[in-house]
Amino acid sequence: MHDDITLTTGRAHRVLTERIWPAVHETSVPLDVEWHALPGEPIPPAEGLALAMEPYEVGTPWGPAWGTTWFRLTGTVPAEWAGRTVEAVVDLGFDVDRTGFQAEALVYRPDGSPVKSINPRNQHVVVADAAAGGERVELFLEAASNPVLLGHNVFERTTEGDTTTSSPDPLYTTRRIDLAVFESEVYDLALDVEVLLELQAELPTGPRRMRVLQALDDALDVLDLQRIPETAAAARAALADVLASPAEHSAHEISAVGHAHIDSAWLWPVRETIRKVARTTSSMTDLIERTDDFVYGMSSAQQYAWVKEHRPEVWERIKEAVAKGRFLPLGGMWVESDTVMPSGEALTRQFSQAQRFFEREFGLRSHGVWLPDSFGYSPALPQLVRRAGFDWFFTQKISWNQVNVFPHHTFWWEGIDGSRVLTHFPPMDTYNSQLSGEELGKATRQFRESRRATGSIAPVGYGDGGGGTTREMTGRAKRLANLEGSARVRWEHPDAFFERARGELLASGTDDSAVWVGELYLELHRATLTSQHKTKQGNRRNEQLLVEAEAWAATASARTGADYPYEELDALWQQVLLLQFHDILPGTSIAWVHREAVAQHAAITEGVQAIIDRSLRALVGEGDVPLRANPAVFAQAGVPALGVAPASAPAAAASTVTELPDGGYVLANDLVRITLDAAGHVTSAVDLATGRDAVAPGREANVLQLHQDFPNKWDAWDVDRFYRNSVTDLREAQKVTAAVEDGVAVVTVHRQFSASSLEQVITLAPGSRTLEVDLRTDWHETEKFLKVAFPLDVRAEHVAAETQFGFHKRVTHTNTSWESAKFETSMHRWVLAEEPGFGVGFVNDSSYAYDVTREVSDQGVAPAPGVPGVTTTVRLSLLRAPRFPDPETDQGLQTHRYGLVVGADTAVATEAGATFGARPRELRGAAGFEPLVHVGGGVTLSAVKLADDRSGDLVVRVYEAHGRRASGTVTVAARVTGARTVSLIEDDLDGGAVDLTADGTVTLELSPFEVRTLRFTPA
Ligand SMILES: [Zn+2]
Repeated sequence: MHDDITLTTGRAHRVLTERIWPAVHETSVPLDVEWHALPGEPIPPAEGLALAMEPYEVGTPWGPAWGTTWFRLTGTVPAEWAGRTVEAVVDLGFDVDRTGFQAEALVYRPDGSPVKSINPRNQHVVVADAAAGGERVELFLEAASNPVLLGHNVFERTTEGDTTTSSPDPLYTTRRIDLAVFESEVYDLALDVEVLLELQAELPTGPRRMRVLQALDDALDVLDLQRIPETAAAARAALADVLASPAEHSAHEISAVGHAHIDSAWLWPVRETIRKVARTTSSMTDLIERTDDFVYGMSSAQQYAWVKEHRPEVWERIKEAVAKGRFLPLGGMWVESDTVMPSGEALTRQFSQAQRFFEREFGLRSHGVWLPDSFGYSPALPQLVRRAGFDWFFTQKISWNQVNVFPHHTFWWEGIDGSRVLTHFPPMDTYNSQLSGEELGKATRQFRESRRATGSIAPVGYGDGGGGTTREMTGRAKRLANLEGSARVRWEHPDAFFERARGELLASGTDDSAVWVGELYLELHRATLTSQHKTKQGNRRNEQLLVEAEAWAATASARTGADYPYEELDALWQQVLLLQFHDILPGTSIAWVHREAVAQHAAITEGVQAIIDRSLRALVGEGDVPLRANPAVFAQAGVPALGVAPASAPAAAASTVTELPDGGYVLANDLVRITLDAAGHVTSAVDLATGRDAVAPGREANVLQLHQDFPNKWDAWDVDRFYRNSVTDLREAQKVTAAVEDGVAVVTVHRQFSASSLEQVITLAPGSRTLEVDLRTDWHETEKFLKVAFPLDVRAEHVAAETQFGFHKRVTHTNTSWESAKFETSMHRWVLAEEPGFGVGFVNDSSYAYDVTREVSDQGVAPAPGVPGVTTTVRLSLLRAPRFPDPETDQGLQTHRYGLVVGADTAVATEAGATFGARPRELRGAAGFEPLVHVGGGVTLSAVKLADDRSGDLVVRVYEAHGRRASGTVTVAARVTGARTVSLIEDDLDGGAVDLTADGTVTLELSPFEVRTLRFTPA
């Protein structure tokens, strides 16, 4: 027969979009509308409802950026609509393709209770399921006119991202505010046609596809386009057979979970996220009430806490739905944080703060970690996830890789210590599924584990800026539950999916074919390790200060009976944890968010400092003895870790500075000799014990390099490989001066370049093998990347970079596409380039990225005896200047501290990294004190605190830092009666009892990179 598939699909598509969907609300009357526009910050709903209103005409522009407009809608249901479902339909001027990025509204009843949200893809509110006719309708809208910042012209520089720079002009024009009959038969027809149209597009040309096409033609033939509501049922009857045909036996199984990935801040400030969460959760509880099998999952305890505080009526609905198992607290983290940059203690608190919240509010815990959108995942995570008591890990972000396609979707992910966690990436590659035919087809085709596993997860709903699942999506799921040619869809808790997946994976054997070892590196968004430096600096500082404050407060509690500041510490940690959200710490939010983050970090520092001062004051007593407190977990400056001792002069001889005839300087102490040239660059850094020079022959180190940095997309997120092609070395020094101050050799270098200037204060302290650089940059660049380069006389096959509770190694070559893609990588406090017998470390106080390149002279053959042919160049990443989404990113004064550690191995680097950001504090008092906790042997201390459950137990966390087996001791210098090993979040474990000696010592055997949390019962 003659056939033209496109004729049928074109016809169905046009009728669906132009006739059937519009007919769902075709019978309507306008509502009376009044309004009150508020610029500036939102007000509580009770005040909004009480505002004086003025008449408003639909079609009038409304809403400047970040303003709130309160609308009052009134009307009467026409008598002839009796028995029908009646809805209010509101189009605030939406672009249906920008759900979550646009204006949104929360609908309230006159008593102030929220109903649901209005957003571009969810414009209705049910007024009556079966109207009596004649009832009075009164609704209020709290409409937020959030500007579109990631519009159709993406990544364009915009000043709308902060109230201090946004324009006052209205952004939206309402199109429709009506009362309408909801034509349910038309609505069902629309979904029938849509599902079948999308299904056939995924099918090969064969009987199933052709029968679906014929059914669509048959249905459209009987649909009277002028009388759609009257003929919809007949059209549906023509589709009934093809919709009833069941799925194949081995069809892919989709585990659907309703979802809205709501970024806790991004292209909107935190205050707007609080409202976004309220809007989405009110819609989702409404949808739960209107369906019988739909389940909705939401992560981030912080977002629940916001609803509880700001919209108590919605909170009650959430609690009810959680109790019924329909609203699922997911993820067990305070927020969906970045996982690459936070410290081990901070990630631990992401878990412990969230699980305590879920336990307290809902009587349950999350069983898995839900992180669909963070930018890469640290190889320390599998251990932390497992030791915190989780069974599974979920993300999809690695599908964004620029180069390499990840080989698994359901697999064991193995971390630096050998821990494995069951991990799943949804093969439809999205956290915003609409259950479209295309997505289901993609999941079926792409799923890498089809040989051994049956299905995958689909997070269903509009995300990023929220919105969540729509009734259209639940309607699609109903039709897709068992449909020939499609994956089978069912709503279920991810726990159920993971339980099934675990069984399927185990049944197919325990070989390594489904194992991924090491970091989940995202081959994209590499610049998130550097953008918005001050946000990162605040994070590093406050993570360290909080751990210090806990230790002093625990010591003060044990020694003086001082109250432990549980509430204050929880509140301060929670603020730090929020600022680790995956668009805040990575530096990818609007100016407003980062302006607030920097201010909040300053306030947190003040709060933590007060706890530190109070605790130390209680411990040292009143007096005038000069004392020194050591906040580090390693001894330094003559003071044991986490102890206070009388301040003493350094034991080592003063460092020296000698001026050279060429204008350069030599800085020396007992351990190292550093040579600077006249421009302040390091030409030699000799370890006196071995005679090895860290700097490659004939090269200069500590050279600042400026790159052009204009990525193809995602300005604040990305640095593209070609950035390396253009570079300017900042060689000119305007002024170089030298001195010895308090025994410390100091060289100060001033440089100017383009519109910026900087000062490097280079110091060598007595008895230190670290050449420190204090860098102050007055940064006024556009689309530039500042790095500092150290060409090393080291043939390093790997570099080791610190991560949470240990380090990981990355090869320095680029043999494969996987290695080549890692041209910008992460570190915590140190990175180390080492060959057997000699290594060079780099420590930092606030940087998170480095890159490594190799240069080979004369094909690797040493050009002269003793001069190896391979140079390893390590570069620390310092500053960027992207123009989207914050057009003023990183402009102005910026400070960094970094250090070159000459003659280092992982042990030296670990200690240098830990002490570099935790310098001794000078204070006065009656006397010092012994640390509350001592560790010995191969055990590194991480935290000393009182237990979260406020039992008064002492919690001590230690780890093995060097990737080897170790034995060691932990001693508590206070009266304790028992000790046990507990989980990372302080839960009791079976078999957790450990032997405790009379002097309070526990002996431990640790496996490589093992983290151990101990709990001591006070006497
Ligand atoms: Zn996100």
